[in-house]
Amino acid sequence: MSDVIAAVSTGKQPCAIGVLRLSGAGCADVAQQVFQLQSGLPLVQAPDRKLCLGTLFDLRGRPIDQGLAVFCRGPHSYTGEDTVELQCHGSPAVLAAGLEALLRAGARQALPGEFTKRAFLNGRIDLTGAEAVIDLIEAQTADMAANAAAQVGGALHKKLAPVYEGLTDICSHYHAVLDYPDEDIPDFRLEAFVQQLQSWRKDLAALYDTCQRGRYLKQGVKIALVGKPNAGKSSLLNALVGFDRAIVTDVPGTTRDTVEETARFGRVLARITDTAGIRPTEDRIEALGMERSRAAAEGADLAIFVCDAAVGLDEADREAIAAAMSAPRAVAVINKTDLPQRVFRVQLPFETIFSVSATRGDGLRELCRWIEDAFATDLPCDGSILTNTRQAEAVFRAKAAIGNALDAMGAGITPDAVLTELEAAMEAIGELTGRSVREDVTNRIFERFCVGK
Ligand code: GDP
Repeated sequence: MSDVIAAVSTGKQPCAIGVLRLSGAGCADVAQQVFQLQSGLPLVQAPDRKLCLGTLFDLRGRPIDQGLAVFCRGPHSYTGEDTVELQCHGSPAVLAAGLEALLRAGARQALPGEFTKRAFLNGRIDLTGAEAVIDLIEAQTADMAANAAAQVGGALHKKLAPVYEGLTDICSHYHAVLDYPDEDIPDFRLEAFVQQLQSWRKDLAALYDTCQRGRYLKQGVKIALVGKPNAGKSSLLNALVGFDRAIVTDVPGTTRDTVEETARFGRVLARITDTAGIRPTEDRIEALGMERSRAAAEGADLAIFVCDAAVGLDEADREAIAAAMSAPRAVAVINKTDLPQRVFRVQLPFETIFSVSATRGDGLRELCRWIEDAFATDLPCDGSILTNTRQAEAVFRAKAAIGNALDAMGAGITPDAVLTELEAAMEAIGELTGRSVREDVTNRIFERFCVGK
């Protein structure tokens, strides 16, 4: 039986409401030493899953707040065990004093993610659901939240469970025929499963293909601004992000390192890197910065080449254009269009070109809209988008193993070799949903959570 854990589940800033949370058999006994119901009933006798008014006491027995308690008896609770939540005012001092009193009364401070880990261990959610809890907490867009919420509700589990069950049936049928030849078990004919296996492989491939969209959703689209010093990259970054993050000066070479900021373009989350200006240089530090510019463009989903409309294109611009072109997608921004123009669209080898004044804001709306259209997901955010590499890697292995099994069948290889592949696919799906995941991997997953979740 698990011990009683307790934690402050809400943030560290003063706010309207703060929550102290407990889980484990006997948690109501612990909580009632610290929280007395107005009704006079001890908390252990409180009605199930109903908010009850009461008083919170500190270590020394002084009343420190009035609040509400809710007692959820297991298994009908988040963790699957008895849980108590004490909703107080959101004063960090009140919550700290309340927690201290709960610890004195016999609870243990919960570890990061321990509530959700218990929910997983007690079978309330599978591992994909548990991982989605942290995605939901950290969601920066409504699309990400919708996808994560559906996964908390078991969307991935529902997709993968039939494949796992189907593979289990095939493998167990094969072993049954082999191990009990005298029993009246229908013949095992692998060919009968070809269509089913092809369909599972297709489903897994489609799921795997969502992972790039998943990365956009969760981490944001990576955008690199490249261009020579003074083109106006920092000014553009500030304009896109909406506040002065990068240092803007008219001394070329000010942004020597890279600066990264998060911006939102409608439904699209983006991480924009302002790289050091690209220009031929003798300066070692600046040369290092320029290497980073090139690397940032190469690792980006989109490179935006920025040039100064008021000065003509030169060798440094051409270097920057080459760096931008190394990204999977690249567009050009002719900046400073409020000044007399010396750079024209026909001079630039880009399909998409925006004329912009970063300081006046002209043309920014078109650029922002283009980014949103180019990267907004056209997939329904219904939980079917893979957003983490652990999951994507496991889906890839499952898909590959089923593919290998089909190839082996095509080549007329004996069923035992085919079955080994199908078992590998089961293993990969089991790791994904948590059926067969190693304990150290599980621990690492829950360590990423915040305390109280
Ligand atoms: P970076 O070196 O490419 O990051 O360039 P900055 O953003 O630091 O800008 C260099 C200079 O150009 C600064 O003095 C900015 O105020 C100026 N600047 C940037 N954008 C514009 C613009 O759209 N119009 C005008 N007139 N000046 C701009």
